[in-house]
Amino acid sequence: MNRPILASIHTEAFQHNLNRVRALAPESKIWAVIKARAYGHSFNAAIEGLASTDGFALLDIEDARWLRQQGWEGRILLLEGLFHENELDLAQQLDCDLVVHCETQVQWLEHFEGKAHMPFNVFLKMNSGMNRLGFKPSQYRTVYHRLHAAGYHLHHMTHFANADQVDQQPSVGKQMEVFSQTIEDLDAPTSLANSAAILWHRNALGDWVRPGIMLYGASPTGKFADIEHANLRSVMQLHSEIIDIQELNPGDRIGYGGRYEATEAMRVGIVACGYADGYPRHAKDGTPVWVFNATDDGAGLSCPIVGRVSMDMLTIDLRNAPKAKIGSVVELWGDQVPVDEVAQMSGTIGYELLCAVAPRVPVSIK
Ligand SMILES: *Cc1c(COP(=O)(O)O)cnc(C)c1O
Repeated sequence: MNRPILASIHTEAFQHNLNRVRALAPESKIWAVIKARAYGHSFNAAIEGLASTDGFALLDIEDARWLRQQGWEGRILLLEGLFHENELDLAQQLDCDLVVHCETQVQWLEHFEGKAHMPFNVFLKMNSGMNRLGFKPSQYRTVYHRLHAAGYHLHHMTHFANADQVDQQPSVGKQMEVFSQTIEDLDAPTSLANSAAILWHRNALGDWVRPGIMLYGASPTGKFADIEHANLRSVMQLHSEIIDIQELNPGDRIGYGGRYEATEAMRVGIVACGYADGYPRHAKDGTPVWVFNATDDGAGLSCPIVGRVSMDMLTIDLRNAPKAKIGSVVELWGDQVPVDEVAQMSGTIGYELLCAVAPRVPVSIK
């Protein structure tokens, strides 16, 4: 037997969340964004649970190859396009759609001999204000015409910097304005919305939406309360077990640095999960851990972290959990504890925690 830690991935929760995207963007096609091993959920689980998507969007061409080997026949978008010119033939064999965001990539496509028999679908990326990837509006139309002349099938694409917050510049409205003005009379399908725009900017969807985090049941803002009404389900349940229990006296301190001091006699549960599993070391005292069968009536209970998270273990306050014992199952995040709550208590967002689930954590697809 291995250590008791396990990440369970629920494929019907994936399907449910994808249906939610369909309901919110019924006119759009969906790129299910599965970069970073499907935000830590494994590509295997993603292609199973998200099989009814129109396409998968990811970063590495090797992952596109793997998807094709698994029999995926739908579309695949390389979200940052090609990183090297010598990947053009492979991208063509794999029938990938390409984001094009810089002049170098435009030149590769112009010189590509294979374009004559099978031109790519190109998602031409406009920098409408985020200032990360893409062409400035002043260059965009020229590049559009060049790729069009070279025979490629063009789509207009941009990405929002602030679809998850109000009063932040550049606003979605401002970026939309720049985008619409720039593409005026260049008739091609569009792709704009990430999860936050799908949830909160329904006028900014476009022909292809690009949901990531909402497919995994976490919030674009990092706050679970913001998506509570969106009826999304968490896809990953991170479970482990209590492997030891300590009885503390008043004044005893716990773990490295002795960050937590007992003010009264208390039981502390030692859980087999630490930062080497991807649990955030910065989790504050009070971060919830769900203990199943914790109380006299058999109910589960949220028990707060006490003391610093270490590499392989963390420690929780069992004062309200008389039935908790060695072998009790705990949920670090999932249905009972939203990953966003753990993230908030650790100064980050759910995205980072999900992506950082360590390779040593076994994944079970349910
Ligand atoms: C990651 C990514 C997305 C998905 O963003 P979420 O906030 O997870 O929905 C969409 N578009 C692009 C270009 C991305 O890189």
